[in-house]
Amino acid sequence: MLAMNEPSFRESVDLMFNRAVRLMDLSPGLEQKIRVCNSTYTVRFGVRLRGKIETFTGYRSVHSEHMEPVKGGIRYALSVNQDEVEALAALMTYKCALVETPFGGSKGGLCIDPRAWDEHELEQITRRFAYELIKRDLIHPAQNVPAPDMGTGEREMAWIADQYARMNTTDINAKACVTGKPTHVGGIQGRLEATGRGVQYALREFFRHPEDVAKAQLSGGPEDKRVVVQGLGNVGYHAAKFLSQEDGCIITAIIERDGALVSDAGLDVEAVKQHLAATGGLKGFAGADFIADGKSVLEGDCDILIPAAMEGVIHLGNADRIRAPLIVEAANGPITYGADEILRKKGCIIIPDMFANAGGVTVSYFEWVKNLSHIRFGRMQRRAEEARSRLLVDELERLSADQALGWTLTADFKDRFLTGSDELALVRSGLDDTMRTAYQSIREVWHARPEVPDLRVAAYITAIDRVAKTYRSKGL
Ligand code: NAD
Repeated sequence: MLAMNEPSFRESVDLMFNRAVRLMDLSPGLEQKIRVCNSTYTVRFGVRLRGKIETFTGYRSVHSEHMEPVKGGIRYALSVNQDEVEALAALMTYKCALVETPFGGSKGGLCIDPRAWDEHELEQITRRFAYELIKRDLIHPAQNVPAPDMGTGEREMAWIADQYARMNTTDINAKACVTGKPTHVGGIQGRLEATGRGVQYALREFFRHPEDVAKAQLSGGPEDKRVVVQGLGNVGYHAAKFLSQEDGCIITAIIERDGALVSDAGLDVEAVKQHLAATGGLKGFAGADFIADGKSVLEGDCDILIPAAMEGVIHLGNADRIRAPLIVEAANGPITYGADEILRKKGCIIIPDMFANAGGVTVSYFEWVKNLSHIRFGRMQRRAEEARSRLLVDELERLSADQALGWTLTADFKDRFLTGSDELALVRSGLDDTMRTAYQSIREVWHARPEVPDLRVAAYITAIDRVAKTYRSKGL
């Protein structure tokens, strides 16, 4: 719960923006133009459910249209409100600029507890919400392209895509109206895991820079680092899974709504996820200690803290008790403006949301491109690539035999070398490249300018500078 004297989420984003633009040379007019949210549409609609009409309130906010379409997820939660949607839309503008996806920023939300409705009811509600947005071009392949966020996933995106197609029967690009769809209706391999995968790639890139790692009072690579994750939903689950299974991290705690599981030896993420899916909570999981006051576990001893649930969880009330030397903001806005100041003074290094969770929008961009080009990535070149590799392997083996050189290529090498890139491999490669390039661009600003105190300010400067350049090119 935020303290009374804390700014709201949107005010926090604006304060972070202001802190960055003070270090930039922007005209006050342009600065104001970039900061403000262009528009927020509020809709109230009724759906007949369980014998009576239920009224729902939804929002779609467009922060900046310096590039179109605008892009941003749709969130389902009871806490959704205009302030939150506008803050998230602003973050989308900066995030898209930072990872060079050609979009403006948007966000949507519906005030609803998705767990209170069954699947058929949720479909009716989603289709009706989508209808309201589609008829105002607030869902449109060329103007506004939503994606999943908290409380929504592939299922909801499939309903939205179908609703758009029903209302725009001759639009050949209809599938590009929304991303995060299941693959059988135009989605892309690797989108479901993308945000968590991006968190992993972000951390890998951070650990490639020993100078930055030392600033977090850490050393070495990600292996053996003790990690606490808050939220085992789409983002938190995939991040925890990849970091533990592929990078040797030890997940020492997972925090969910009903409490936290703690184990110094490390939690089996897959088993915890199954328990959560089966029981709706973490309580009762064997082989780890359950702590009912989950929030207190944010303050536990660890190397890396990954808040991956929701905004405002590290605030003025607990920031000085946070012990993690490195925080990766997998959620949007998990650290308030006030907490950010406290943590920085303590020497904590924060990998900011606009970079850390940009994997989702990056792969959404690939999905949108796939939908517009109407062809799966890798379809044209995969077998050609394999044929060229085969040519080389055959020639090396022929040379070895003819000249009695005694070379043998290992089966593992041949296997990997002879496998052409399919869609998933290409998506991961594109995501990895994006995360590395984006981190390098922000750390360059961080290190080159002594007045830039941290990665967040550097990320804002990098993003705002790119948005400003686009506006200037438009004559503003
Ligand atoms: P999700 O709904 O799949 O998962 C959220 C998880 O957090 C759930 O398991 C929920 O039970 C848990 N949770 C909710 N409130 C909590 C609390 N107070 N304490 C502990 N756990 C709590 O949502 P998601 O898509 O994983 O999104 C999580 C965060 O990541 C959000 O801030 C979202 O904006 C951000 N994000 C998501 C994506 C994406 O592609 N899904 C992309 C970028 C950023």
